[in-house]
Amino acid sequence: MTGKSAEGTQTRCGPEARSTRLRALLSDLGADSLLVSHLPNIRYLCGFSGSAALLLVERSKSTLFTDSRYTFQAREEVSGAQIRIAKKGILRAATETLRGRRRGFRVAYSATHMSVAEKRLLEAGAGVRWVADGNVVEKLRAVKDEEELIWIRKAALLISDVFRRTLPLIRPDVTELDLAAEIEHDIKRGGGSGPSFETIIASGPRSAWAHARPTSKLLRKSELVVLDQGAIIGGYCSDMTRTVHLGRASARAKSLYQAVRDAQQAGKQAIRPGATAGDVDRAARASLKTSQLDRYFTHSTGHGLGLEVHEMPRLGKSEATVLCKGMVLTVEPGVYLEGFGGIRIEDDVIVTANGCDDLTTAPRDFLEL
Ligand code: ZN
Ligand code: ZN
Repeated sequence: MTGKSAEGTQTRCGPEARSTRLRALLSDLGADSLLVSHLPNIRYLCGFSGSAALLLVERSKSTLFTDSRYTFQAREEVSGAQIRIAKKGILRAATETLRGRRRGFRVAYSATHMSVAEKRLLEAGAGVRWVADGNVVEKLRAVKDEEELIWIRKAALLISDVFRRTLPLIRPDVTELDLAAEIEHDIKRGGGSGPSFETIIASGPRSAWAHARPTSKLLRKSELVVLDQGAIIGGYCSDMTRTVHLGRASARAKSLYQAVRDAQQAGKQAIRPGATAGDVDRAARASLKTSQLDRYFTHSTGHGLGLEVHEMPRLGKSEATVLCKGMVLTVEPGVYLEGFGGIRIEDDVIVTANGCDDLTTAPRDFLEL
């Protein structure tokens, strides 16, 4: 599939084009090849979505090592790589292949995504030189191609629809767990393969726990409810938070909500090609500072989104990553007041030629249900 975008967005789509872009970066790493062990990176580079694999990307070819459970699936999914079904373990098969390479052959790998035991096995078996991969695949993945954007848009629309359909169910005497179950069921009914993370439902004082697990607590009147949910379609994730109130909200809750909404808007307005990830975080934080709420904003403003729910770049205070057209980010400021509750509003956006567009579409007004 071919896209038509200019600078930034990846114009050629699919695993083979991505592998070509990766090969062009191997010499910068001082490597002849990359041994990819992180499954989302493997999926990105050759399409394979199974749960056990290694992918060796060399200058002129790629080899996927997997096991016999995945023989048919690999045949169906993989493009641009030879498939090797390992009979005595994937690591051993990869080691044998590397042993056949010349002396001094340089293999880049990710220390983040390989265990010490795995690395030792590989080192013992193959006389190659190991170099750090510098997160090269994660960096490529930060800028989406047109094929990826189709899936991310679908995932964002699905979770927005799920939220709209969930609204009538958010009422007193429903448990947080019930609500989470309804959302996750509806994701699958709507064509998603599942939630992109464990759905967060946090009500009353628990809404101040930024990453609360749903419990058997009943929702009650006059409580804030934070719903943080995401769907996966075609392997790609969405991630959206809304905060609602059961019954009439106090003036305090309303003004806190407005402050978070303003901060989110300030964050979105700071997004454009050439701005840094840190610029976006600082804009959201400065907005909250005008109402002395910045000290209650205890996490970063957002993160990249794609095959994983948290990817590069992180929108944190001192992040220097320069934003490019085609990146997909969340913008999710929040305030958390112990004993009172929390408010977070999170949308997924795509960086465009001169700003950003929302991908999630659920209502952002403060809903009093
Ligand atoms: Zn979220
Ligand atoms: Zn998020």
